[in-house]
Amino acid sequence: MENDFRKEIAELIDKEKQTYTKLSDAIWEYAEPRFQEVESSRDQQEYLSSRGFQIRADLAGEQTAFIAEYGQGKPVLAFLGEFDALSSLEQEADKTEHCPISGKTNGHGCGHHLLGTAAVAAADALKSYMEAHKLSGTIRYYGCPAEENAGGKAYLVRDGFFDDCDAAITWHPSTTNKTMTDEKFLANFRVFFTFHGISSHAAGAPELGRSALDAVEIMDIGVNYMREHMIDEARVHGAITNPGGIAPNVIPAEAQILYAIRAPKVTQVKKLYERMCDIAKGAALITGTTVEIRQVAAYSNVIRNETLEAIMDENLRHFVPIGYTEEELQYAKKFQEVITELDKEGLKDKVNLFADKKHRKEILETPIFDFVLDKNLTIGGGGSTDVGDVSWVVPTGQVNVNCYAAGTALHSWQAVAQGKATIAHKGMVAAAKVMACTGAELLMKPELVEHAKKDWEAELDGEVYPNPLPKEVKPAIW
Ligand SMILES: [Zn+2]
Repeated sequence: MENDFRKEIAELIDKEKQTYTKLSDAIWEYAEPRFQEVESSRDQQEYLSSRGFQIRADLAGEQTAFIAEYGQGKPVLAFLGEFDALSSLEQEADKTEHCPISGKTNGHGCGHHLLGTAAVAAADALKSYMEAHKLSGTIRYYGCPAEENAGGKAYLVRDGFFDDCDAAITWHPSTTNKTMTDEKFLANFRVFFTFHGISSHAAGAPELGRSALDAVEIMDIGVNYMREHMIDEARVHGAITNPGGIAPNVIPAEAQILYAIRAPKVTQVKKLYERMCDIAKGAALITGTTVEIRQVAAYSNVIRNETLEAIMDENLRHFVPIGYTEEELQYAKKFQEVITELDKEGLKDKVNLFADKKHRKEILETPIFDFVLDKNLTIGGGGSTDVGDVSWVVPTGQVNVNCYAAGTALHSWQAVAQGKATIAHKGMVAAAKVMACTGAELLMKPELVEHAKKDWEAELDGEVYPNPLPKEVKPAIW
C-alpha cells in the first residue's frame, strides 16, 4: 500500500519518457550558456504551458527565468530546474576522444539539460497525480538561469520569488546516488576590482603616469598576505581579466582583476570581501589610482534539512538500483578508460571513503555505480551552488543521481559526451521519480511540511539570509 503512490507516479513519468528524453536532448544540442538559455527556456515553457501550467517569465531581470505554476493554496512546492551550458566544452556525443563540434563553443558539462528536464518531469507527473487524487496545494517549476558563473537563483531569491514557498526540491546529475546532506559546498562571491590610473610614456614621462596594473599586483600581494589570516576552509582565487595592454612602454591606465571568494558560510565570505575591499583601497592609495568594485554574483552555503533529506533518501532507495544493460555497462567502461589519470586517482579516493577494504577492488571495476550511498557520508565538496541561496529562505532537499560512468568528472568533455546516452536518460528519469514522489508525500502529509520548516529554523539558529547581492547588482553576462 505504502508504495502505491510511487508506482503510480513512476508510471506517469515512464509514460512520457520519450517526451522528456527529447526535451533534454534538445537542450543538450542548444548548449546555451548563462543568461542566453533562450531556446532551452522556451522549450520548457512551451511544454509546461501545453500541460496546463501558468507561466510567468522574464523574472528578476533574468530574461530566461520563468515559473510554471499549477494548483492553489498551501503548501507551495518548488521544483528547481536549470538549463545553462558551460563555455569551451563543445564535444560530440558518445565520442570517447576529445572531438569539439566545429562552430560550437559550449557544452553541457554539468548535466543541467538533465537537471532541468527531470524537474520539469517531476512537476508534470505530480500535477497529474494531484488531479487524479484531488490533492490541494500549489506546485511550481522554477526555470533558473545561469547556475554557472552567475548564481541565477540568488537574484530570484533577492527579488522575492521564493517568499511564499514551503519547500524546494531539486537534484544534480552525478556519478553516485546519494541524498545530499553535508556536502561542504562553499559560499562564494565573484567580484571585479577595476583600477583606473593615468597613462604616460613609461620611459619618457614615468612621473606623469599612475599604473593601474601596479595596483592590481599590489592588491594581489595584499590578498596573498590576507590568506595567512583567514580560516583554513576559505579559498580566494583571482584572474587578471585586464592587464592594461601589451605595451611595456605605456603605463596602463586601466587594469582589472576578478576574484572568487569562498568560505563555508556566506557571512564569512562577506567579511573576507569587506577586507578585500580595504586591500583594494590600500592598493589604490599606494599607486595613486582609483578603484571601482563590482560584485557580480553571490552563492550562499546550503542550509540542510533533515526532514526533506529523509523523505528523499527513502524515495531514492526505492528507485535505485536503476538497472543497466550489458551494452550500457560496456559504454561506461569505454568512458572509464579515457578519464584522466588524476580522475582515476580521484575515483580511488572516493571509493575509499565509502567502501571497506574487501570491496574496494570490486567496486573500482564496476563501470557504473548503481547503488545508494549513505546520506551521511561527506564526499567531495569545495564547489558552490546557488541552490544555497534558495535553502536560506525555503526548506530545501536535494539528491545526486548517477548519470555517467563512474569516475567521470563534471565540467569535462567526457561528461558532455555522455549527456545524451541512455545512462544519462535513466538517471534523469529516476531523479524525476524521486522528486515527484517527495512532492506527493509533502502534499499528502502536511505535517511533513511543518517538520521541514522546524528543521530549517533549527538549522538557521536565528541567522537570517544576509542577502549577499546588493540591490543595485543586476544579472549580467560579464
Ligand atoms: Zn551543475
